[in-house]
Amino acid sequence: MKKNIFNDNKIVIASHNKGKIKEIKVMLKPLKIEVLSANDFNLEEPIEDGNTFEKNALIKSSYVCKNTGFPSLSDDSGICFCDLNNEPGVYSARWAGQEKDFNFAMSKINDSIKNVETPSYNCFFVCALSLSWPNGDNVTVTGKIDGKFSWPPKGNFGFGYDPIFKPLGYDDTFGEMDPEFKHSISHRALAFKKLKNLCFPSLEN
Ligand code: IMP
Repeated sequence: MKKNIFNDNKIVIASHNKGKIKEIKVMLKPLKIEVLSANDFNLEEPIEDGNTFEKNALIKSSYVCKNTGFPSLSDDSGICFCDLNNEPGVYSARWAGQEKDFNFAMSKINDSIKNVETPSYNCFFVCALSLSWPNGDNVTVTGKIDGKFSWPPKGNFGFGYDPIFKPLGYDDTFGEMDPEFKHSISHRALAFKKLKNLCFPSLEN
């Protein structure tokens, strides 16, 4: 993996997802740079037609970088259920429909797993982070956390599928965990650790 040190004073988060923007802003705070998001520019969302998290992350970061002229950081993430052939995967946002109704998406997961004869309930979250620079350089990393499907949904913290995901070794769902704690163990945190090592060495503890 190529090293590419981040030395700018501004970054644009290539996302319109409030939950993700909030988590990424917390992670970037120690850099003390200006952190904007795609919402601050009137940008449309690019078509995410990649078949992997990495490809979709790169599509988003390079699109926002090209259209703003600033370095851009994207997050493409989702949840994969082993009993459902790793669905919804890169379609995690789309399973919630136009209305982004995650109660509906979580019920769909429950209904689908109910039809599996001997479910393992194994699942994992994946996060791909991609950082693009105006000179065409890109760095992409991934993080993964394993867990178990948990029903009914529990907890009001976090976003998306957090209420039905219990990370291995814990009794609480991501939705029940203190957000700071989730931020320290999540797929996003693991990807961010790799990105820090490659691009933000000043953030390394
Ligand atoms: P996308 O990366 O914008 O395509 O959307 C990924 C979707 O995966 C989000 O809309 C969430 O539903 C889900 N997701 C990703 N990360 C998390 C997380 O940390 N908690 C809960 N849901 C997540």
